Amino acid sequence: MLIAHVALAVPLPKLFDYLIPEVLANQITVGTRIKVPFGQRYDIGIVVNIDTTTEFDINKLKAVSEVIDHTSLFPDKLWQLLLWAVDYYHYPIGEVLFHALPVLLRQGKPARFSSTTQWQLSAKGKLFNDDDLSRWPRQRQLFKLLQQNTDDDLIQAASFSRSIYQKLQERQLIEQVELPYYPKSWQAETACNDSPLSLNDEQQQVIAVIQPLLTQFNVCLLDGVTGSGKTEVYLHTLASILAKGQQALVFVPEIGLTPQTIARFKTRFNAPIDILHSGLNDKERLQVYLRSKNGENAIVIGTRSALFTPFKQLGLIIVDEEHDTSYKQQEGWRYHARDLAIVRAKLDNIPIILGSATPSLESLYNAKIGKYHHLTLTKRAGNAAFAEQSIIDIKGLPLKSGLSLPLIQRIKTHLDCQQQVLLFLNRRGFAPVLICHDCGWIAECPRCDRPFTYHQQQQKLNCHHCDTPRSIPPQCPKCGSTHLQAIGFGTEQVEQQLKQLFPDIPISRIDRDSTAKKGALSDYLTQINQGQAHILVGTQILAKGHHFPNVTLVGIIDVDGALFASDFRATERFAQLYIQVAGRAGREQKSGEVILQTHHPEHPLLKVLLEQGYPTFATQALIERQATLLPPFSYQIVIRAADKNNQAAPKFLAHVSDWLKQYSDDASLWIFGPATANQPKRAGYYRWQLLLQHPNRRKFQSIIKELCLAMTQWSEMHTIRWSIDVDPIEM
Ligand code: ADP
Ligand code: ZN
Ligand code: ZN
Repeated sequence: MLIAHVALAVPLPKLFDYLIPEVLANQITVGTRIKVPFGQRYDIGIVVNIDTTTEFDINKLKAVSEVIDHTSLFPDKLWQLLLWAVDYYHYPIGEVLFHALPVLLRQGKPARFSSTTQWQLSAKGKLFNDDDLSRWPRQRQLFKLLQQNTDDDLIQAASFSRSIYQKLQERQLIEQVELPYYPKSWQAETACNDSPLSLNDEQQQVIAVIQPLLTQFNVCLLDGVTGSGKTEVYLHTLASILAKGQQALVFVPEIGLTPQTIARFKTRFNAPIDILHSGLNDKERLQVYLRSKNGENAIVIGTRSALFTPFKQLGLIIVDEEHDTSYKQQEGWRYHARDLAIVRAKLDNIPIILGSATPSLESLYNAKIGKYHHLTLTKRAGNAAFAEQSIIDIKGLPLKSGLSLPLIQRIKTHLDCQQQVLLFLNRRGFAPVLICHDCGWIAECPRCDRPFTYHQQQQKLNCHHCDTPRSIPPQCPKCGSTHLQAIGFGTEQVEQQLKQLFPDIPISRIDRDSTAKKGALSDYLTQINQGQAHILVGTQILAKGHHFPNVTLVGIIDVDGALFASDFRATERFAQLYIQVAGRAGREQKSGEVILQTHHPEHPLLKVLLEQGYPTFATQALIERQATLLPPFSYQIVIRAADKNNQAAPKFLAHVSDWLKQYSDDASLWIFGPATANQPKRAGYYRWQLLLQHPNRRKFQSIIKELCLAMTQWSEMHTIRWSIDVDPIEM
């Protein structure tokens, strides 16, 4: 009797066994979806294994009830990648496999293109003279288009209403026919259009190094300053991959932010490019998935989850802005798309390029020890020069919503020359605190014990930790006073201040609030790129890969918080953010200027960054990490737990810690905690964590595997919220 070992989309780290009825025996293979009875209902499962053994009583096993796919949904190497990830991230197999599928496939929809229907002339229609339709011009127009076998897209573009079709159908002049789906192919020979730019010397050298590395697995770290022409290097490399008829996968941190980059891709290639962005509906997502699987597209550009796209013949992976933290999923299955992309490239034996102006310390370290090929671009492409950088010491200076007088003057100078100014502040809303002036009461989120942020425009309070909205109290709930005051400032307040200072200048505020509406961001970008004097105020959204040709002044309003954060990665984050934001200045002919306001102009981090730049910062930071044995010189895993009574979570983690002590004898496994999380309470849950560190990844992994196995027997596992975060990037 054959038995299928099946993954179900449930949070349990195990497979479920089902009998395979004789009639289905030669239809079921590994990697296909089937329907199985589960509890009171039927559920969709993915077959992981087929053999004749089971640990359960074979007489009690239920049978597979239906087969959905006839071949595996997962190309071989993608399947291996997912199984590898299940092990590495210690995450339930069913959840990993289902996560990797488009929503419609998770729901059991067929994994193929549905046939489409098309209108055509009926037998009667073919003999019909369109003059007889002269009284109904729209009907006549549609009839003529169909008569001439006009291209579908053109007919679509003319947007005839349904009723026009219906009327012609009632006259029995047209009819609908089913068309089977024909995959469309593209031509490798003509896939690439000529480049409008000739490569500069550095770009040529980099391409010369990359070319011979393209035939097999190689990791290239393209370490190029902002505006050095990394995108141009990607395009050249992609051209040679496409010329071989292979496909490519390109990761970007956020699609909405890179319309110019995407436009560059689309004009360069004469082959289908699919963009996986959040605006796609489930059906469109499935279509991209299927096109890639069939080899119908040449390039897929997407964010983190594009990792799971199957390809017919993947030839190259590119991860742009490889340092970006959005590549790490921060809830549920906490995978790192860059890291898994490297594993994928290795399994597929294809090259992968990681690009950044501010590479992560992990990648720089791997380049240093020779695991990655380190390619550098040190000059700005074209004629752009580097921006002039300076600091304004704001100690004791009067500030208007965070803006000092010297900064305001520089803003004015740049605007007077019809140039644009970008002001960066990583805090949205009007003010981070609302306080009672008479008794000191603070409006605090009861679920997080943190102050609400005051949003003036929407006239409400919002918790930036759990996203709970509140209306603004008319008076202090403690003393009844109506003197409620906003303390501190966010982007909304800076925007308001600027409107007063520069009433004639258009101002765009770009943060999560102002760009929540679909299309809002691209409207802003269009406005900004028209090039008159303009001020942009925004959060880190602005730092991500934009090209604002007319911005000549970048002002960084407040960095002091970031200089003194407790997380050891905070300095790396800050350095990356600073360099990226500064890199928005003077990207074309006009030279740029970066001004940073701080109370701590002597801070060593600022000195290194401003005087010596990112590479020196990174070298020093790596030396520090080595001295303190922090990643990448060791590996970390965080086990988190949360509860509502502040008892079960620390108790559970203490249990974990006790269990692990059997492995900490040789002093290689370090256990820190249990301790409260950086943010000890969120959305009503008290949060605790146990930080583990080990110098040997393999040994570490096997210990955690043992732990996970042991934990399945613990009774408290089912009553507590807990998670494992492998290679955490946030504490
Ligand atoms: P990066 O991706 O490194 O930030 P880009 O590839 O976007 O840099 O290039 C920055 C700017 O320089 C763009 O406007 C681009 O068109 C231009 N550029 C890139 N390479 C060249 C080149 N070889 N000659 C002239 N201009 C170039
Ligand atoms: Zn009060
Ligand atoms: Zn909250």
